Amino acid sequence: MRTAYISHPDCREHDTGEGHPENARRLSAIEDRLAASGLADVLRHVEAPLVTDAELLRVHTRHHLDTVSAAIPAQGYRRLDPDTVVCPHSLAAARRAAGAVVAAVDLVAGGSMDSVFCGVRPPGHHAEADRAMGFCLFNNVAAGAAHALAEHGLDRVAIVDFDVHQGNGTEDIFADDDRVLFCSTFQHPFYPFTPLPGNTVNRVNVPLDASAASAEFRAAVSDHWLPALDNFRPQMVFVSAGFDAHREDPLAELNLDESDYTWVSHQAMEIARRFAGGRLVSTLEGGYNLSALGRSVVAHLRVLAGIDPG
Ligand SMILES: [Zn+2]
Repeated sequence: MRTAYISHPDCREHDTGEGHPENARRLSAIEDRLAASGLADVLRHVEAPLVTDAELLRVHTRHHLDTVSAAIPAQGYRRLDPDTVVCPHSLAAARRAAGAVVAAVDLVAGGSMDSVFCGVRPPGHHAEADRAMGFCLFNNVAAGAAHALAEHGLDRVAIVDFDVHQGNGTEDIFADDDRVLFCSTFQHPFYPFTPLPGNTVNRVNVPLDASAASAEFRAAVSDHWLPALDNFRPQMVFVSAGFDAHREDPLAELNLDESDYTWVSHQAMEIARRFAGGRLVSTLEGGYNLSALGRSVVAHLRVLAGIDPG
């Protein structure tokens, strides 16, 4: 399997201030584990380009782009909401993060890579068409999915989101777009506390109780995501890969571990193989215990790279 890791040094320059869980040490933790595991040697390393305005405007309003740009301080920090902090380098980081997913789509659509993991920050799945929130400035996975539809002639793409928080931004952006199937599991009730829309053939939200662990998570995926994905037949599979449902994560209560991330990665890869020529693009969302995050990304990438045979 040809698997790429896309990132950029700018993503480490997004400084959220002392004590913020979404910080540059997350990328160090991931890249240290990839190196120590030997996995870094089998991945193709690609630098993320800056996303263009036109690519962002497929999923965000002009007002949102202007609001984020205007909020960037010349020095120090500024808060866009109680959790979402920007510094002078945040716009470049956010443009690299969204640019990574767009570039990943070009790599897998063009056939030079089978799968790509975007090791980027800030994360994206809480960013709505017209609003930054929950550590997210631009919706990275949405920018990639919209690019696949607009530029690569695809009619159906799926986004699977196993972050512990519901992907309200992705939900908002593709609310009226039946070319996108959005499958999500998340702790509920929990942040972002937005109302859950009813499920449709294109929207498969599976809330999990705070006590849920492996069995409940795997049942949610097997009973709800997989039938919808089989029915939808996506031509490209996107993963909003948040690892904050791990039992060691400090921000949430779910009790998953690396074996669950291995398992769900195999499920996503199998869907990609069956319907999408194996084309899969994954991007980092949450995950705030540094050790658990590094181990979980290694588990995920071992499956993408075909090293874990399942
Ligand atoms: Zn999260």
